[in-house]
Amino acid sequence: MNSDFLIIGGGIAGLSTAQRLLMQGALVTVLERGEVGQEASWAGGGILSPLCPWNYPDEVTRLTARGAELFAAWVQELHAATGLDPEYEVSGMLVLAPFDAQTAEQWCATHNAYPMDQVRATEYNLLAQDDALYLPKVAQVRNPRLLRALRQHVESLGGRIIEKCAVSDIVVENERVQTLTTTSGTFNAKEYVVTAGAWSKEVLGRHALRLNIKPIRGQMLLFKFDMPPLRHIVLQDDLYLIPRRDGHLLVGSTLEDVGFDQRTTREARDMLWQRAQKLLPSLHGMSLIQHWAGLRPASPHNIPTIGRHPHLGNLYLNSGHFRYGVTMAPASAEILLNTITGAEQPFDITPYQAGWNT
Ligand SMILES: Cc1cc2nc3c(=O)[nH]c(=O)nc-3n(C[C@H](O)[C@H](O)[C@H](O)COP(=O)(O)OP(=O)(O)OC[C@H]3O[C@@H](n4cnc5c(N)ncnc54)[C@H](O)[C@@H]3O)c2cc1C
Repeated sequence: MNSDFLIIGGGIAGLSTAQRLLMQGALVTVLERGEVGQEASWAGGGILSPLCPWNYPDEVTRLTARGAELFAAWVQELHAATGLDPEYEVSGMLVLAPFDAQTAEQWCATHNAYPMDQVRATEYNLLAQDDALYLPKVAQVRNPRLLRALRQHVESLGGRIIEKCAVSDIVVENERVQTLTTTSGTFNAKEYVVTAGAWSKEVLGRHALRLNIKPIRGQMLLFKFDMPPLRHIVLQDDLYLIPRRDGHLLVGSTLEDVGFDQRTTREARDMLWQRAQKLLPSLHGMSLIQHWAGLRPASPHNIPTIGRHPHLGNLYLNSGHFRYGVTMAPASAEILLNTITGAEQPFDITPYQAGWNT
């Protein structure tokens, strides 16, 4: 079957790009090395906001704010089309000390997408005494469910997904990609999009230029309560607790520069559990349901690269979303689609081209 677009990598970046292209009437095939939606996009916590937005450059918060703005309608559309509920919920996020209250307050006052209140942490069922910050608009989603819905929608729109198909070479002639060499033979299309997450630089090989995308491991723990033990997402430094509707509680996460090693470690498990327990004593003695690790596609300052390759006219990249690839997914797909079709962008997108030269 002929394709207009071949998409390399079936995580949230690849599937959301495929969905947008299919909705424009393009013929799309996704090539996935393993099974779609089983890497970072599965492993993430699904918080739809940067952890402390005031710590990030505008290039990041503009994209996360746009993503968060598009999310509710996106999820509704997926739910209606597939019957699968990704459990989007505006649960709010409580930020516990230590934090720089003045910086946070000033920043939130000038960024409408991130309203904030000062609250007393003692009111929130936690062992925390100090004042806290509350971000009421922060939402969450359940990644595995979102990915299942997205996959189903892509397929129902006529998208073709080929799993167990690893791309090993991008064959170029006359400044255009001609074919992809894969473990399932060669494939060609008019246009190509690399959405291979932490592996994007390796997939691009000699065409990666100065792109700096590398894996940063994150580990997560999962517990199950009878009732949600918290009303809101709780954040303290890099530690977060995410309550799901059905009583599941996620505890994350680590930031580890260990290459492509996806193993979990006892040290991380103990550290996350002990720190979480200090805030939520009811975690003491509970059974750990699951412990996993995922590889984030890390890029400098958390700024992804979204757009056309500087030298190869029919090759695009949508990758390097690091800690916020779920939040950024609908906005990144929108920007890439606008680039491809020449449509107007929601804001200046030149910062998302800089990654080729870093
Ligand atoms: C522990 C953890 C917590 C996180 N929490 C959050 C959060 O709360 N909020 C948020 O917004 N983000 C969060 N993230 C970040 C987010 O999950 C990632 O930024 C996002 O999932 C990246 O999506 P992706 O599609 O680029 O990568 P991936 O989901 O990793 O997908 C890339 C795909 O490409 C495939 N692939 C690789 N090489 C090849 C090849 N040669 N040929 C074919 N296919 C290939 C892979 O198999 C994979 O399926 C978290 C991440 C982790 C690990």
